[in-house]
Amino acid sequence: MSQTYDYQQILNTIEESLRPYCNRGDIADYIPELAKIDSDQFAMSLCFNDGREYSVGDFRTPFSIQSISKVFVLTIAMQLVGEELWGRVDREPSGNAFNSLVQLETEMGIPRNPFINAGALISTDVIIQETNNAYDEILDLVRRISLNQNIKFNEKVANSEYSEGDRNAALAYFMKSFGNINSTVDELLRVYFAHCSIEMNTLDLARSFLFLANGGIVPYTGDVIIPAGSAKRINSIMMTCGLYNNVGDFAYSVGLPAKSGVGGGIAAVLPGEFSLAVWSPGLNENGNSLRGIKGMEIFTSLTNQSIF
Ligand code: GLU
Repeated sequence: MSQTYDYQQILNTIEESLRPYCNRGDIADYIPELAKIDSDQFAMSLCFNDGREYSVGDFRTPFSIQSISKVFVLTIAMQLVGEELWGRVDREPSGNAFNSLVQLETEMGIPRNPFINAGALISTDVIIQETNNAYDEILDLVRRISLNQNIKFNEKVANSEYSEGDRNAALAYFMKSFGNINSTVDELLRVYFAHCSIEMNTLDLARSFLFLANGGIVPYTGDVIIPAGSAKRINSIMMTCGLYNNVGDFAYSVGLPAKSGVGGGIAAVLPGEFSLAVWSPGLNENGNSLRGIKGMEIFTSLTNQSIF
């Protein structure tokens, strides 16, 4: 089925039809360094397991992946401790903002899922505790799956978030009080903000999600990242928890497992077929890229390719 469409033409059509939405939405200005970004930008990249790649717009421009890094740290934490992880973090949608504290008190310091901030702090804690150098571990994985050795942290963005990081610090201290964090809060936050600050363009991002569309193996290189069963589970958590409080609406309008970030990126997969990454910094009221969601909706509508 996938051969029957002119995908480049479809991406061009999407870019064109989203022009009227230029400058709509709000930049994530709670991170001072991200407040400087030009909200006009738009890019989309599509990579198939069989090697075909298509891109449109500002797809060579790197952007801050922010919460999309939660997928990468979850992948590493699952590699390191397997099922043990699920004693420390749950797998249910939260129905709350990504940085909310409210459920943690009644749920004894166990975050609802690995894709809210509290849950990603658990994955980050696992990496710090189980490896010699959490920073290297994270960069190694991201470079392997994106096939780009130049991927790095943006220290300015990480420091900028650290300087305004009181709420994430509160989440970390709160979980630590329940015995669910082992690292020092300062080290935990440093590593967490570092992985949120990773910069990629949409082509890097689409490539880096292909292992999730291909049973845990990077299709271009044959590099085995995780067992097929773990890839299936990460995809299911993306489907139910990947889009903050838009997850139901995104499932309805797009129908792909995906993860968004407040940098304006969204990465999605159709297992067995492709990965799709979009970036546009203007966010809706739930912190998801406004044009990004619309672009993905148009894509799955025009191609009739979704998991449903
Ligand atoms: N670094 C951001 C934060 O912790 C990530 C938020 C996001 O992209 O959802 O607030």
